[in-house]
Amino acid sequence: MDIRIGHGYDLHRLGGPEDGGKDMVIGGVHVACDVGPIAHSDGDAVLHAVADAILSAVGSLDLGTLFPDTDSENKDRNSRDFIMEAVNRASEGGWAICNVDVTVLCDTPKIAPARESICNSLVTLIGAPVNIKGKTHEGTNKEGAIEVHAVALVQRGQTI
Ligand SMILES: [Zn+2]
Repeated sequence: MDIRIGHGYDLHRLGGPEDGGKDMVIGGVHVACDVGPIAHSDGDAVLHAVADAILSAVGSLDLGTLFPDTDSENKDRNSRDFIMEAVNRASEGGWAICNVDVTVLCDTPKIAPARESICNSLVTLIGAPVNIKGKTHEGTNKEGAIEVHAVALVQRGQTI
């Protein structure tokens, strides 16, 4: 049996509508917030990091290479497309996703109240157990950003 791990990371600046900030979407869940990601796609940093973690675990090309932000087709694109591409590539390679662990760093919004909804959304999208936790930037100079780390474990082949 093969077991592999992949890490994904994503970062977006946050801004109000006047700065080009989009609606705050975290793991496919709309979260009320007066700032949102400044991004080419919909800026869902959790889905971007999780997609990259899965793609990396199965040895695929990364999200930025598969869906370049210079391509107008990806403008305002729903990040569910990215996660579905990652899940499909895993499945085509015979990989089952064991679990995904996600850490979100942002000062606003707070992750805790939306944690369960985000978890449920991710479980539905990838079909595997997900854990997610939020942290703040602790007063460092990244306070105007959302930053996400994700790891995905995958396996294929017979269990002995
Ligand atoms: Zn992103």
